[in-house]
Formats: sequence, C-alpha cells, structure tokens
Amino acid sequence: MAAIRRVLLRSTGAAALSVALSLGLAVTIVPALGGVVDGNAWLMCVLCPLLIAWPASAWQLWQHEQLRAARAALVLAHEELQRAHDALAETARRDGLTGLLNRESLLAVVEQARSSSDVAWLLVADLDHFKTINDRHGHAVGDDVLTQVASRLSSGLGEGDAVGRLGGEEFAVVLAAADDGHAAAAAERLRAAVAQTPILVEGGVALSVTISVGGSAIDPALPVRAAYTSADARLYEAKRAGRNRVVLAAAEKVDALLASS
Ligand code: GH3
Ligand code: MG
Ligand code: MG
Repeated sequence: MAAIRRVLLRSTGAAALSVALSLGLAVTIVPALGGVVDGNAWLMCVLCPLLIAWPASAWQLWQHEQLRAARAALVLAHEELQRAHDALAETARRDGLTGLLNRESLLAVVEQARSSSDVAWLLVADLDHFKTINDRHGHAVGDDVLTQVASRLSSGLGEGDAVGRLGGEEFAVVLAAADDGHAAAAAERLRAAVAQTPILVEGGVALSVTISVGGSAIDPALPVRAAYTSADARLYEAKRAGRNRVVLAAAEKVDALLASS
C-alpha cells in the first residue's frame, strides 16, 4: 500500500512538472520563433505530458519499488542464511550428547594454546568403571551421567580455558595459562567436582561417580600429539594407582604442587 501511494505521489509530481515545463517551453520558444500559442496549443501542452509522462513515470517508479522490495528480501534471506550457517558451524564444533567441544575442536584449542602460550596445560579425564554404570543402570542413565559430568567439568573453568569430550567417557580440559601449581589445583578441583557429590539419575538414584585425571604441560616446541600422549600416559598411571586421582607430568609430585599453589 505504501509503495502504491509513493508511486502515485511521485508520478503525479513528475506529470505536474512535465506540464509546467511543457507550458514554459511553449510560452518562451513558440513566440521566439514567431508563432502564437493558441487554445489547441495550450491543450496539447497539458494533455501530452499528462498522457505520456504520468504513466511512463508511474511504470518506472513501480519497477523501482519492485526492485527495492526484491533487494530487501534478498538481504533478509542472506542474513537468515548467515545465521543458519553460524548455527550449523557451532553445532559441528560440539559433541551431540554433552554440548561440549568435540574432539577435533578441542584439539584445535590445544593447538592454539600451544602456539600462543608457554604455560598451557592439557588435562585428560576418564570416568572410572563407567561400563559398570551402563551395565547396571542402562545406556540412557550412562548418557545422563556423561552429561552431568560434562556440566561439572565445565563449571569453574578460567577465562580462555576449554573443555571437550574426546570420545566415549573421556574428556579433556585445556588450561590456557596455568603454571604447574595452578594446573595441579585445577585438576584436583575437577576430580573433586565429580567425586564430591553423587550424581542423581532417573528414579532418584544417587550414583557415586569418579574420574581419573592425567595431565601434561603443553610444550610449545613439540607437536600437540606429544602433550596428548603424555597426558594420556599419566591418566593410565592414575588408573593403575587406584583411580579417582590426579597424576601430572610434572617433575614434582601432585601433592607438593597442591601444597605450593
Ligand atoms: P576404566 O575405569 O578403566 O576407565 O573403566 P571403564 O569401564 O570406564 O572403561 P571401559 O573402556 O571398559 O568402558 C567404557 C564404556 O563407556 C564402554 C562404552 O559402552 C561406554 N560408552 C562409551 N561411549 C558412551 C556413550 O556415549 N554413552 C554411554 N552410555 N556409554 C558409553
Ligand atoms: Mg573409563
Ligand atoms: Mg575410556
């Protein structure tokens, strides 16, 4: 409606201007050429612009309005596509069950930390005897436990830190700027965050869940693989030592690091 009103108004204006110009030309040029502007000439000066300029300008303005509407629709569609693309990219970065970063994205964060910080740490956490939870309570409860553990691991991370699910019941945390003491404290906090309070699942059942944590400083001079292999080796040391504990690839013992942090 607004577009039609705009077209009518503007084309009327254009027609009026054409009539005025036509009359102006008639009264200046015709006498200068020795002619006389009579009744028919006046009529033609008014009718011609009205019959030609009015519909022509209305048509052109209408086309312009159509183009404007099409361009606005295109801009909207582009914005919508961009939003869908961003949402898809974000979904692709995330693990479907827990919403944490998936393995590839987490390893990309490790790579970023390796190249931008010389005091970054990689912690790898694995649920202890998780298979038993699945076997006793079913896969759905197992999924619920994974989701709740993920949420506990996510809370309380520092700025620039990241947590992801490497796969199965294995998670990883990147500490972007942590010296040995801070890394030990952070790893212990993660372990305690899972072990301290039982996890409530379907039917009001409270499950005691624990994780073992292995950690390694990320050496900027070595490939990411080295930090992962080292953290993984510490994780298996923690498993062998009885589970529900932290082992870090630092020279000092974790207890000593904790005491000094
Ligand atoms: P450990 O303390 O040595 O780590 O023992 P574990 O039982 O945790 O380890 P194991 O590797 O024997 O078993 C891991 C189990 O995790 C087996 C697999 O079915 C289960 N699992 C892996 N991914 C998922 C998942 O997405 N959902 C559920 N519910 N279970 C999963
Ligand atoms: Mg396990
Ligand atoms: Mg495992």
